[in-house]
Amino acid sequence: MKQKFRFIVIGVIAFFIFQVNAQSSSALENCWERQVKPLKDNYLTFSFSDKRNELEHSFKPWQESNYDSTGTVWLNADNFLKSDSLVVRGKKYNSKTQLNNSTMLLLDYGDKELFGVTESMYKNQVFKNIRYSPLNLINYFYQHKIYDNNESNTDFAIYKTIINKAIVQLYIRKSDNLLEKITVLSYDEFFGDVLSTFSYSDYSTIKRLSYPKAIKIEKINGKVKDEVKITDAVNILKEPPLLLVQPADYVLKKDVEITPEIKVEKYSPNIHFIELKHTDDRVMVVEFSNFLLVAEAPLNSKNGELVINEAKNIAPNKPIRYFVFGHYHPHYLGGLRPFIHKGAKIICSKANQDYVTYLANAPHTLSPDNLQNQPKPLQIEEIKDSLTISDGKFEMQIYFIGSKSAHTNDYLIYYFPAEKLLFEGDLVWIAREGEIKKPSKRQTGLYNAIMELDLNIDTIVQSWPVADYGVKTVIPFDDLEKSMQAK
Ligand SMILES: [Zn+2]
Repeated sequence: MKQKFRFIVIGVIAFFIFQVNAQSSSALENCWERQVKPLKDNYLTFSFSDKRNELEHSFKPWQESNYDSTGTVWLNADNFLKSDSLVVRGKKYNSKTQLNNSTMLLLDYGDKELFGVTESMYKNQVFKNIRYSPLNLINYFYQHKIYDNNESNTDFAIYKTIINKAIVQLYIRKSDNLLEKITVLSYDEFFGDVLSTFSYSDYSTIKRLSYPKAIKIEKINGKVKDEVKITDAVNILKEPPLLLVQPADYVLKKDVEITPEIKVEKYSPNIHFIELKHTDDRVMVVEFSNFLLVAEAPLNSKNGELVINEAKNIAPNKPIRYFVFGHYHPHYLGGLRPFIHKGAKIICSKANQDYVTYLANAPHTLSPDNLQNQPKPLQIEEIKDSLTISDGKFEMQIYFIGSKSAHTNDYLIYYFPAEKLLFEGDLVWIAREGEIKKPSKRQTGLYNAIMELDLNIDTIVQSWPVADYGVKTVIPFDDLEKSMQAK
C-alpha cells in the first residue's frame, strides 16, 4: 500500500512539474518571445514589394488582374502603419494606413480624403497586416491567451480562434518556435467558405527580434496566389512618422445592414422585370404556359431567394424550369445556388461549366444557404450558338455572342421576336441626358452581333445598372443606331 501511495505522490508531483513546464514553455509564448517581445515599444520598419493578384470583372472566369506595389511598413505589437504606391497603366497611386488599438485612418489609393472606415473594416484590418508581418496577430493570440488545440501535431503547435466571424489558426514550428503559417477561413458571399494561407519564410533577426522576409499568400482556396518580399532598410525605431492626422470628429462608422427593396413590373403578358434597388439590378422572369425562366440573380444566395419568392408571387403554380445568366460576373451569377436547390436547369455554355460546377459545390458552412443545408445535383442545359425556349405558343431565343461582346468570353443575350425586345446585361452605355456619343467597344460589339444575327429590335432593356451612372437602361434601338453614326 505504502509503495503504491508513494508512486501516486511522485506521479502527482511529476504531473504538476510537467504542467508548469508545459505552460511556461508553450510554443505561442516562445514564439511571442522571439517575434514580438524584443521590440518593446519600439517600431520595426522595413520596405517591401507586393505582387498582388485579384479576381475582378475580367474577360473570363479565374482571370487575374495583377498589381505591383512597393512601400514601407512600421509596426509593433498594437500599431501598424503603411505607406505604399501602386502603378496602374503607368499612373502612380499612393495609399496610407495608420492603425492603433482603437482607431484606423486610411487614405485609399489615389484618394484625397480619408476613407470612412467601418467597425468591421477595423476588425478585418489584421488580416491585411499579416501579408507584411504576422507580428500583430501573434500578439493578439498571446494577449487573448489562446491555447493550442487538439489538432497540434509533431511538427506544429496549432492555435485557433475566431476574429470577426473568421476562423484563424496559427501554425508554430515546434523545432524553433517560429511561425510557419496562418490560415484564415472566412465567408465570401459569392465563393462561400474561402481559405487564405499566409506562409512565412526566410527568417532574419534584428536586435534579437525574428521576422520573416518572404510571405506567400494563397487566397480563395489556393486559386489566387500573391507574394510579398521584405526588401531592405530593416530597422528598429523609437517613433514612427505621423502618416495621417486624426480628424477631431473621428469615429469608426457603424456597418450598415443592407435592406432589400424590390419593385416588380409587368412588361408584357409573358415578361416581368424585378428591380432589386439594393443592388441596382434588373432581373427578368419569363412566364410560359406551365413553367418560368429566370434570367440573372445578383451577388449572393439571399438575392437568389428573393427573386425566387417574387417569381412565386408572379405565377404561384409554375415551377422555375430554367435559370440563365448573361455572363459570369457576380451581378448576374451570384444568386445561382438557390435555383439549383429549387431544381431549375442552369442554362450555360461550355465556357462556364467548370466555373458553375465550382460554385454549385462550394461549401457554405460559415453562412449556410439552402443548397448547403440540403444539397441538390447541378443540372446543366448546354447552350451552343443559340437556344430556343418555347411552350408551343410563346418563345424566346437565347444567343451566345461570347467574346463578340468585347466584355466577356461567355456572353449571352435574350431576344423576344413577338415584343421585338432584347434583354442584355451591361453592354449599352448611352447617357440619359445630352447628345448621343460614340459607342464603346462593348456597345459596338453588341450592335455588330445584332446585325449578324439579323434581329428585328425596337427596344433593348439592360440588367445593370438601373439607377446609377446616369445611363439609359431601357433603350430605343434607334439610340443604339445613332451612337454607331456618332463621330
Ligand atoms: Zn459585366
